[in-house]
Amino acid sequence: MIMNTLPIIENNIWQPEFECMRRDDLEALQLQRLKKAVQRASALPFYQEKLPAEKLTADSIRSLDDLRRLPMTTKADLRDNYPLGFMGVTRNEIARYQGTSGTTGKPTWVAYTQQDVVNWSNLCARFLVAGGLKREHTVQLSFGFGLFTGGFGLHFGIEQVGAAIIPISSGNSERQLMCMLDLQPEILICTPSYALKLMDTLGQGDIDRSKLNLKHAFFGGEPWTENMRTRIEEGMGIRCWNNYGLAEIQGPGVSGECAYRNGMHFQEDQFIFEVVDPQTLEPLPDGERGEIVITPLVREGFPLLRYRTRDIGFIYNDGECPCGRTSRRMSRILGRTDDMLIIRGVNVFPSQIETALLKIDSLAPHYMIEVSRPEAMDEVTVHIEMRPEMFSDSMIEMQNIRREISGAIAQVTGLHIKVNLVSPNTLERFEGKARRVIDHRKLVD
Ligand code: ADP
Ligand code: ZN
Repeated sequence: MIMNTLPIIENNIWQPEFECMRRDDLEALQLQRLKKAVQRASALPFYQEKLPAEKLTADSIRSLDDLRRLPMTTKADLRDNYPLGFMGVTRNEIARYQGTSGTTGKPTWVAYTQQDVVNWSNLCARFLVAGGLKREHTVQLSFGFGLFTGGFGLHFGIEQVGAAIIPISSGNSERQLMCMLDLQPEILICTPSYALKLMDTLGQGDIDRSKLNLKHAFFGGEPWTENMRTRIEEGMGIRCWNNYGLAEIQGPGVSGECAYRNGMHFQEDQFIFEVVDPQTLEPLPDGERGEIVITPLVREGFPLLRYRTRDIGFIYNDGECPCGRTSRRMSRILGRTDDMLIIRGVNVFPSQIETALLKIDSLAPHYMIEVSRPEAMDEVTVHIEMRPEMFSDSMIEMQNIRREISGAIAQVTGLHIKVNLVSPNTLERFEGKARRVIDHRKLVD
């Protein structure tokens, strides 16, 4: 990995007393907090069933290694204990409910005490400040407000910092741009897919980019690649920062990039992170990719132990970050165990295809992956838009581009796929998280 040596922005730190703790002090704090977390979880029937009483006490945790003896928790466990089998306090003590989108069936409900909400706001403030947010800034918050943790989570984080918020929510791109022009925010927060849509609208409308004051953006909520970052940065003339979170653990603020943008700092005083082999569930050493497993240490309303996120990534093992934070850093999310495609026996993540596609200059960053099994064999077609200025009537030129694309994808995945070049502005755009894969095999199963 190439370590940026010069920060792109000032290196400010929101809670240095936690973010820059000496490692041994941090580990002592984690141990103390883990004992309490186990105690909290011991009130839940789910964990009582999994562990004998003597293993579920604060005393049974003597070192951080004892974490490995605790049971893991999965999304299926949350569903089996619907709606709130994992709530850690009585209803009277809950200050907020949020939920995940639940594209199939019911949402997953999560609950927060007042203290959880305060902690969450500070964790959001940490990555916002790390990525350059200052009190004097104005932020256009284009995450959906509602059950999705992005909107309200970030809202309270920005408020902690004291910057101005425009809680515009997602949707209506023309109005978003009008707001950018009239209120002159320096910062945009949304999903990377929505940024693509805004970029399109900006390209097509009559608003002059030079009249906007936009400088930075914070993107999260869905996978995106380094090549996508470059496209958006060049297209919108801004700098973009990555942040990660999930409702089951808290929402945004679980990790985020600092000025050096060399991975996302974990908030290790409040969570313990593991990377495990998704098949064997054995812990993997730093540097190796696997499923990220998270134990929240101070969450009262929803005290999970070793939650399997289904997100794939790795922990950097290149020493401490020059920013001064002592926490470890995680890679981008490289895929999810549940969006991995198995094509003719080969494992492929959509992010690998995105990386290959966006290396090719003549393509726009809008694509869709379609998988089917017309006969006995899996077939993949990638539909991708061309940049308007590159779209051509020449059959030969288009054939060459198609060849370039399938070559680039074969190089990364080893698979030969079909390529369908489509006209600019024909594929679906997204206001929240993108749906870029249609797997017809799953639809018939
Ligand atoms: P759901 O998508 O199930 O409704 P959430 O809204 O809580 O639930 O989304 C959490 C998921 O979004 C994460 O588990 C992860 O897969 C994805 N995600 C969030 N932030 C990022 C990010 N920065 N990069 C990649 N994926 C992300
Ligand atoms: Zn750093």
